[in-house]
Amino acid sequence: MFLSQFQTIGNNLFTRGMVSSENGNLSIRTGDNLVITRRGCRLEDISENDLIETGIYKNNRITPLASAELPVHRAIYQMTRAQAIVHAHPPHAVTLSLTEREIVPNPELISEICAVPVIGWGVKVIPGTLEAEIAGALRKNRIVLVRGHGSFAIGQLLEEAYNLTMALEESCQVSCLLKSIR
Ligand SMILES: [Zn+2]
Repeated sequence: MFLSQFQTIGNNLFTRGMVSSENGNLSIRTGDNLVITRRGCRLEDISENDLIETGIYKNNRITPLASAELPVHRAIYQMTRAQAIVHAHPPHAVTLSLTEREIVPNPELISEICAVPVIGWGVKVIPGTLEAEIAGALRKNRIVLVRGHGSFAIGQLLEEAYNLTMALEESCQVSCLLKSIR
């Protein structure tokens, strides 16, 4: 019953250039479980077999099939009230994350996000790590960036987390364009 939500958001992320082949991942909370996209799943073409339901606190038989970012998704559900998570690679936001420790979206363009922390300075960023830092930052923010890698956004619905991702990316795109003409 969740399949169409995953398909819509996955397809939107791909067509808007927020993920490329086999990266990015989505999940929703179902009580003490979560449903997360499969390891290596192509978000533009999600099928029933690409949705893996496993525990937020414990493994089951199919846990090894889940996205490599499962530890981060689990930590977020353990430490926040998130009901859905979108992890994407928005290109302009990732570009700015290489030089900024915090990204403040232009208030003329976007009012729903304040400062967005950039996590992962001074460490080698490997997918599936930094879970405590990411989840901790998402207790105070609805979207964070991992330096040089991507965004994690939370919401009550996948659509809400997707909208935050797009809003941040659109603001970062304008920031990059402004830098290029100054
Ligand atoms: Zn990623």
